[in-house]
Amino acid sequence: MRVLVVEDELDLRQQVSDALVGAGYSVDQAPDGEEGEFLGDTEPYDAVVLDLGLPKVDGITVLNNWRKAGRDMPVLILTARDSWTEKVGGFDAGADDYLTKPFHMEELLARVRALIRRSAGIATSVLTCGPVELETRSGKVTMDGQSVTLTAHELKILSYFMHHQGKVISQSELIEHVYDQDFDRDSNTIEVFIARLRKKLAPKLIKTHRGRGYSIVVPEGEV
Ligand code: CA
Repeated sequence: MRVLVVEDELDLRQQVSDALVGAGYSVDQAPDGEEGEFLGDTEPYDAVVLDLGLPKVDGITVLNNWRKAGRDMPVLILTARDSWTEKVGGFDAGADDYLTKPFHMEELLARVRALIRRSAGIATSVLTCGPVELETRSGKVTMDGQSVTLTAHELKILSYFMHHQGKVISQSELIEHVYDQDFDRDSNTIEVFIARLRKKLAPKLIKTHRGRGYSIVVPEGEV
């Protein structure tokens, strides 16, 4: 597996590269956005560690250009501490994950491992809730790494939950976002779909908030 590290701070770039090499990856380094973008365009990387604040071309622009060009390798962005706007910009540009500086090298390695594992099929954002993963482009759902087959409606409901984790979602909101206008909107069917999702995934995955709706939660015993 080959990883590109784009980082202008020499010490950090070297530390990250050394750690990745130590973990068994082949590593290329780029000290600025221009060289980083060129390497990402011309070499087949399994993952990229991309700093956002870079000389010549900033990381967001690099990432945007890669995605526009169809380069879909997983990208872990490095952001400044507490800069949530950078994180949002990075995800909008097509980042798969982020790490806030300063970080522990073990965490970087764990995230790179996860990115590479998840992108074995198609590289795209993967939504995760505890043991459940949803690959948004393919609609593939896994539970503890095992593929789970969902019907189209079950998938739509799960996807809506996974896009709104931690939020209580009413039945009417679900119906509005899951069904098209012409569908026979019956709130009882929502209950049926949620029961099926619980059965197929984890019983405690979707929590009922009496009179208010449902939320998706990391099942107890996980994380
Ligand atoms: Ca920087």
